[in-house]
Amino acid sequence: MSSLSTQVLVIGGGTTGLGIAWDAALRGLKVVLIEQSDIGQGTSGRHHGLLHSGGRYALSDPASARDCASENRILRKIASHTIEDTGGLFVATPSDPVDYPDRWFSACSHLNIPVEEISLSTMLEREPLLNPRISRSFLVQDASIDSFDLAHLLVKGIQEHGGVVLLRHRLESLIRHQDRLVEAKIKDISNGTSLRLSANLFINAAGPWAKTITTMAEVELPLALGKGTLVAMSHRLVNTVVNRCKRPSDGDIIVPVGTVAILGTTDVPVKEPTSLDIQPWEVDLLLAEGDLLLPGLRDSRPLRAWAGIRPLYQPAENGNAHTRALLRAHVVLDHEETDGLQCFISVIGGKLTTFRLMAEEAVDLICDKLEIDQKCSTASTPLPHESGQFHSLPSRLEKLEEHPYPHSINDQIVCECELVMRGDIELVLENSPAVTDLDDLRRDLRIGMGPCQAGFCAYRACAISSEHFSSPPSLKGLHNFVYERWKGIRPVAWGSTLQQMEFSRRIYLDLLAAGPESENRS
Ligand SMILES: Cc1cc2nc3c(=O)[nH]c(=O)nc-3n(C[C@H](O)[C@H](O)[C@H](O)COP(=O)(O)OP(=O)(O)OC[C@H]3O[C@@H](n4cnc5c(N)ncnc54)[C@H](O)[C@@H]3O)c2cc1C
Repeated sequence: MSSLSTQVLVIGGGTTGLGIAWDAALRGLKVVLIEQSDIGQGTSGRHHGLLHSGGRYALSDPASARDCASENRILRKIASHTIEDTGGLFVATPSDPVDYPDRWFSACSHLNIPVEEISLSTMLEREPLLNPRISRSFLVQDASIDSFDLAHLLVKGIQEHGGVVLLRHRLESLIRHQDRLVEAKIKDISNGTSLRLSANLFINAAGPWAKTITTMAEVELPLALGKGTLVAMSHRLVNTVVNRCKRPSDGDIIVPVGTVAILGTTDVPVKEPTSLDIQPWEVDLLLAEGDLLLPGLRDSRPLRAWAGIRPLYQPAENGNAHTRALLRAHVVLDHEETDGLQCFISVIGGKLTTFRLMAEEAVDLICDKLEIDQKCSTASTPLPHESGQFHSLPSRLEKLEEHPYPHSINDQIVCECELVMRGDIELVLENSPAVTDLDDLRRDLRIGMGPCQAGFCAYRACAISSEHFSSPPSLKGLHNFVYERWKGIRPVAWGSTLQQMEFSRRIYLDLLAAGPESENRS
């Protein structure tokens, strides 16, 4: 078993953990981050992608609202390439309480959240599909943010400042020496080897898995888990984020992301971080509520549904509260204070929008404990970015207009929905050793995420990758990728979505005879 030592070990490669490792590396600390899977596999890759203006929580959770508003301004400066400035609308439909907009408007003003009331004709000019019976409409500074791109930038930032990111490394156990945490036992899932890592401080940023980590350290964590289901519609039905102007509840947001519109979300208390099953009522409810904002939405084509799990701090006084009622604010728990266990910190809750602030508070505490006098600089340090680094459909279309394809074999289209070329795939395979399967390619290039949901591109990408990987993706890898896509389609499989799913299934099972024996027709 090999061994390693570091000043700070961060457990979890979601945006919270990556933000902490980035901040620590920028302050010159020796930091290692471990992630059991790939970045963005947890909640950080399973949300709406809304960069909150703060408006949503202005009345229900003012502390979170204030944090979101200030972090929104900062992220626009330091991570501008991952953000699309869609703007946001809060609108009052005939089903919403009439006294809410005025109370909400004054709460926003009180919290310095920029809001402007606009006329209904201006609203409809901007978003013609919105319900003409909406009575009031307000503009806010919501935006959409690509968390996969953000995560990639954070990894780059960590590595450029000497930090180490170990993907597919799972924490298996934590070793205590009396009242101090001293060592972590880690498994490299890709080859089954084990590693012992000693650190001055252990940071639990495992999101919905945070309680599993504290259990390894033999301390209790009051954590509640709330599952939220989301539905992606096959078109970008709005260009602006649209929120209902009422107390946050189920199905009250639509976020335009890339080529699709995302409807969110429900909030169902669950016990496990892997309880991601979607119930039919959740999809029905999201479509029905969406229809109040965009009449006729029910008849549009849903592309897929998925769920994410919110990790929410639930102190004893909120013991029986529903997860919807729990505050979205974050906590940085020093287990020396709460449980008498030294060298262990948990960072819980918050939003993707507030990940930088959570990291700043956590690393301030880390520096205090290590007696290091280094100030946080993440609010003014742009994340490293190279032009052309990201997958963006508009920039691909521009490129296509300038230089019509094909020029070479590299210009062969692999994914028609997201315009991914053979050359794009080869570039990623050559330059990113961490990419080991089709799902990694999906997160980098969006293959399989468009309207056909991997109907064609999965096989082409699999063939191209098999020329590159030292051990080519097995049929099992292809199977997992395709089935993961179908899993998301199944909850919304009716009408043309069902036709597309059946079409893809027949290509897979009949034409390519690629499914398990039992599923192949003769
Ligand atoms: C439905 C839904 C919608 C949301 N929408 C928004 C939104 O629009 N805007 C917004 O700002 N916020 C949103 N949020 C909140 C936001 O997504 C989360 O606050 C954020 O992603 C949490 O990130 P995290 O890093 O704490 O957790 P995660 O992203 O879950 O990261 C934890 C990581 O720890 C890893 N891990 C676990 N156990 C181990 C182990 N033993 N060893 C190594 N690694 C381990 C996991 O694999 C995982 O990758 C939403 C949340 C949900 C559920």
